[in-house]
Amino acid sequence: MIREAKDLSGEIHEEVDVVVVGSGAGGGPFAYKMAQAGKSVLIIEAGGYYTADKDFTEKEGEMSRKLYVEGGAQATADGSVGVYQGKCVGGSTVINGMMCFRPPERVLQSWEDKFGVTGLSYQDLLPSILEVEQTINSTENLPHEINIPNRLMMKGADALGWSNAPIWRNKQDCAISGFCMQGCAYDRKRSMLVTYVPMAVESGATLYADTEVDRILTRGGRTTGVVASVRDRDTREVVATLHVKARIVALAAGAIQTPALLQRSELCSHSGQLGKNLAIHPGPSTVALFPQPVYGWVGPPGGSYIDEFHEHDKGGFLIEGMSFGPMGMAVYMGQFGKLQRDLMRDYTRLATCLTVVHDPGCGSVQYNPKTGKADITYVLDDETQQRVKESIAAMARMWFAAGAQKVMAPFTKPLVLESADEIDSVYELSVGPSDINISGPHPQGTARMGADPDHSVVDARGETHDVKGLFVIDTSAFPTSIDVNPQISTMSISTHRALTILSDSSRYF
Ligand SMILES: Cc1cc2nc3c(=O)[nH]c(=O)nc-3n(C[C@H](O)[C@H](O)[C@H](O)COP(=O)(O)OP(=O)(O)OC[C@H]3O[C@@H](n4cnc5c(N)ncnc54)[C@H](O)[C@@H]3O)c2cc1C
Repeated sequence: MIREAKDLSGEIHEEVDVVVVGSGAGGGPFAYKMAQAGKSVLIIEAGGYYTADKDFTEKEGEMSRKLYVEGGAQATADGSVGVYQGKCVGGSTVINGMMCFRPPERVLQSWEDKFGVTGLSYQDLLPSILEVEQTINSTENLPHEINIPNRLMMKGADALGWSNAPIWRNKQDCAISGFCMQGCAYDRKRSMLVTYVPMAVESGATLYADTEVDRILTRGGRTTGVVASVRDRDTREVVATLHVKARIVALAAGAIQTPALLQRSELCSHSGQLGKNLAIHPGPSTVALFPQPVYGWVGPPGGSYIDEFHEHDKGGFLIEGMSFGPMGMAVYMGQFGKLQRDLMRDYTRLATCLTVVHDPGCGSVQYNPKTGKADITYVLDDETQQRVKESIAAMARMWFAAGAQKVMAPFTKPLVLESADEIDSVYELSVGPSDINISGPHPQGTARMGADPDHSVVDARGETHDVKGLFVIDTSAFPTSIDVNPQISTMSISTHRALTILSDSSRYF
């Protein structure tokens, strides 16, 4: 059953085995596994229940307002880094680029070595990874799914001898619309909205959309449930209050809202790590001007990737295809005034890509009771600044090798490279706050997992050290950045967590 604000009023009381907060990559699979095992499950989702047939118009502004946190304007408190997340049934998986990467073995190993996280090795996770990949149909892009800019990326990489490949994506008969980030109007994107969430509901779970959890309830060191407000989608007025009694509370509100909710509930502060260690995979993008039309908006943004620099000692970043509609392009190119106007006149000849840069968790999240929101801070440390510069230089080198006439680097002080000989000027500019246009669509790490309760928020099973029965099943629990686009890792770890809990059922139910 799916319940929305328009159907709800007054005081509502529910009692279930499991309440899942958030319906994205962390929440969806966990809810399904629990419901499939016969547990009574409630999924609470702050965003609306929007569907392709009724709502997805492919209009950038309209869809950003409906599907993104703060309409796509969420940013660090100083405004220097955009932190993008979905706010709708299906969470960020509804508006993501669908790129599918398995968690790197070396990252999972480092979690065991540095944080004592056992039971989450690549081999431990592999059955869940395979199940997730099959469920969301993660498959390699077919030739017709690689658009011109993505082909040019591969051409440039090949010319330089760099390792590259078509990307895997969770799609079924991709419609090649190119509007992946506005929600797939054809339901070809196998997001949580069309896979795990309906699978959970068909297995008996109830979903409350438009419903934001305000507080987690506890008694005697155990969680007892949550209280949530149901808000009218347009006016934001509270139309109902939902009181839920549950044996397990599983938090999957994303790496900004999960720590904020714990802070608002005054829980899990013992280690001092809650809200710290925010990693975002800071992603600078570059825009290349080609002599010929490249029609960047046609076809999926994520067609190909370059992993030549993925290992930390080689750079610590991935280069991935990305394309934008006119609104996104005007924002992402990071230029303004006459230069921006002139470039937008050449929109048909512009190709873009971005990087997923490893970062050590340079940010933090703090719930602000005055605004009712989470204040986000994020400042690149010296090492990440160097990685960011190297990633911009590599993107520029690749574009010129593919035949670009100019490459625009994403600095606030405009930097237009006219040839590969000018690339070294990238290293002369500052990448300090507000000096560069970077965004972070992959928040992680703010409720860090680890064996030691003095240095971590949750244990290897995802259960908080401080409150029994309270689990973190989203990217917040990653002890470090996962180093690849996180959705497969998030869904697999969430699946694995559900199975671990179910295998020890008498402890919780
Ligand atoms: C623009 C964009 C592009 C991306 N592209 C890719 C990609 O190509 N490949 C990839 O692997 N990853 C990609 N990602 C990242 C990936 O989608 C996320 O890492 C993943 O979805 C995170 O899962 P999560 O469960 O932590 O959070 P989310 O999927 O964001 O889900 C969190 C949900 O919790 C809800 N919520 C928040 N607070 C509350 C509350 N108090 N009460 C109830 N509900 C609440 C939110 O509304 C949201 O729906 C992208 C992300 C974005 C934003």
